[in-house]
Amino acid sequence: MTHPYPHLFEPLDLGNTRLPNRMVMGSMHTLLEEMDDGFNKAGAFFAERARNGVALMVTGGVGPNQAGRLADDEHTLDRPEQVADHRLITQAVHQEGGKILMQILHPGRYGQHDKLVAPSAIRAPINKRVPRELPDEEVEQTIRDFVNCAELAQQAGYDGVEIMGSEGYLINQFLAPGTNQRTDQWGGNADNRMRLAIEIVSRTRAAVGADFILMYRISLLDLVEGGSNWEDTVTLAKRLEKAGVTLFNSGIGWHEARIPTIAHSVPAAAWSWAPAKLRPEISIPIIATNRINTPEQAEAVLANGDADLVSMARPFLADPAFLSKAENNQPAAINTCIGCNQACLDQIFRQQLCSCLVNPRACHETELDVSPSATSKKVAVVGGGPSGLSAALTAAERGHQVTLYEASGRLGGQFNMAAIIPGKSDYAHTVRYFSYQLEQQRVTINLNTAVTAAELQQQDFDEIVIATGVTPRVPAIPGLDHPIVIDYQQLLQQQPALGKRIAIIGAGGIGIDVAEYLAAPDHGSESIENFMNYWGVDQSFSTAGALKKPAPMPSVRDIYLCQRQPGLPGKGVGLTTVWAHRLTLQKRGVQFLSEVEYLQIDDQGLTIRIDGQQRLLEVDHVINCAGQEPRNSLVNELNALGISCHTIGGAENADKLNAVRAIRQGLDVALSL
Ligand code: NAP
Ligand code: SF4
Repeated sequence: MTHPYPHLFEPLDLGNTRLPNRMVMGSMHTLLEEMDDGFNKAGAFFAERARNGVALMVTGGVGPNQAGRLADDEHTLDRPEQVADHRLITQAVHQEGGKILMQILHPGRYGQHDKLVAPSAIRAPINKRVPRELPDEEVEQTIRDFVNCAELAQQAGYDGVEIMGSEGYLINQFLAPGTNQRTDQWGGNADNRMRLAIEIVSRTRAAVGADFILMYRISLLDLVEGGSNWEDTVTLAKRLEKAGVTLFNSGIGWHEARIPTIAHSVPAAAWSWAPAKLRPEISIPIIATNRINTPEQAEAVLANGDADLVSMARPFLADPAFLSKAENNQPAAINTCIGCNQACLDQIFRQQLCSCLVNPRACHETELDVSPSATSKKVAVVGGGPSGLSAALTAAERGHQVTLYEASGRLGGQFNMAAIIPGKSDYAHTVRYFSYQLEQQRVTINLNTAVTAAELQQQDFDEIVIATGVTPRVPAIPGLDHPIVIDYQQLLQQQPALGKRIAIIGAGGIGIDVAEYLAAPDHGSESIENFMNYWGVDQSFSTAGALKKPAPMPSVRDIYLCQRQPGLPGKGVGLTTVWAHRLTLQKRGVQFLSEVEYLQIDDQGLTIRIDGQQRLLEVDHVINCAGQEPRNSLVNELNALGISCHTIGGAENADKLNAVRAIRQGLDVALSL
């Protein structure tokens, strides 16, 4: 039988290096190296992924000098005494047969410290600090620092380096006319603006020799005003190839771009047309990136000839064994990244250690050891939502005999509702993954079973885990029992026919999700073509930065999104995605109402007080998204029988109900049994 992913598992020769497949684990900033014993922890993190067959891995960004740090506490590689630390990573990876490149990243004006520098003293819209313009001699020194950093990486045993030339970081800032307004040899015309990139690559190649892999992340689409045009990008690529680059990685969008590039609302493999456009212009391999999440998507990108390799980053947080499972033709066994950013990028933006919502072991490999338990216990898990699934699976993996009870007819809990929201269909993968693994682990699953305390008592379990989730909060608003009111669970589970005019009470994560669901035609996600049109991406590359006038985003309803607190909706939603949600809702014409007092719901609609004035929102339906309360009556019933239990997830704490915490609690409780 032919392999289902023949292109993905086709070897590739990169000079003297043979890669066994076409999968690159892209650079991710995890903050592991900044922890106590961080390089050993990072070594364990990479080694687990290398063991599972990733052809080539890239570390998180490392600064080439002090100005080139991302933030004050973050590490550089600019001194020989730092090499030993990095050897802990390279040795761990090489022992597993893997190959690893170190990414050299100079953030330029994105630096979160006081020494930030840039080609010109122009503040980035996403940074409060104004950078200092690099004088000519410091540009020269910066090039020497990149070369020094690459040489030290070579001494540390890395198989190569990735030079970060995209995402709006320093090299990219030199390339783009909008951020480089110099008049010396480093600015002005395109040749001068490219000089820094070319000099870094050619001098690095001269220093490290022919066999060291030199990957360059080229910004194919800047997606900002004043970005590079396509002609200059092609010229740059050709010159970089000549200067000694081994292969290109694709960069899509600067960090300050207001177009989502990796959020879950971005369609699968939405950007692979960009490397496809450059590929005929160059003779070295190019890697496709961004929102490639499954082996099927990777295979399709390669089979289509869009790129020579694919890079995934977050999917390897979600499942370190992604590639070996794909190679063994077990796609159902893969714990798929759902593109939520909640435990990875959002944590990093808060300067907290990265992990993964669906795989809390990510970046905790040395602490969270799912090893067999000394004794096999009889364990009941009540509730088949994310926390219950996590507890049941981990307990079973540790050798316990697990029985799972779920009151509804299907596993997944809140994730089944999330999967209906436009752009969130990947949440269904999590349910598929847990269902598959529970079956593999022979967990007894009782669906449609609202188990009682007495029934649990009869079964004589050694341990009982209560993960019964939440119920929607019922706020004290006159008329909340009126037939035009439904709560978000009824909406998403029963999908009733609704009128055109809607008011939503509560503008947290779920209020925003519900607004997107109700505004989008057919409640659906967008095609790649529509996505590019609505966000104003010029796929013909006729404009600098690849921007064009966005097409109006259609909306099928008039929606008011209301909250009592001041400010914009989405407080509590992660920093890396909330701006895209707000923009989407604005594009769909949703009206945000803050500092609202809810007065009455009746046949006329929802009456509120806002700005001191009473106002009637003439709506057909009111959707209650006012948060949740724990559903935990079983805990009291068990306690009344003298039976103790472990309570996790929303049943334990519905305030700021959070799937990151819920799944981690499931793992933790199972490790404690
Ligand atoms: P939430 O974020 O706590 O928001 C609840 C909303 O209800 C708030 O707007 C709150 O604002 C309002 N509210 C609370 N009590 C109320 C009352 N008595 N009367 C009227 N309004 C009231 O909860 P959620 O939206 O249900 O989301 C739950 C969790 O799911 C979130 O914390 C988030 O972690 C997660 N989630 C995240 C995403 C995402 O990241 N995209 C999406 C969905 C869910 P006011 O008090 O100002 O009215
Ligand atoms: Fe993917 Fe979410 Fe995990 Fe990040 S936290 S790797 S986006 S599933």
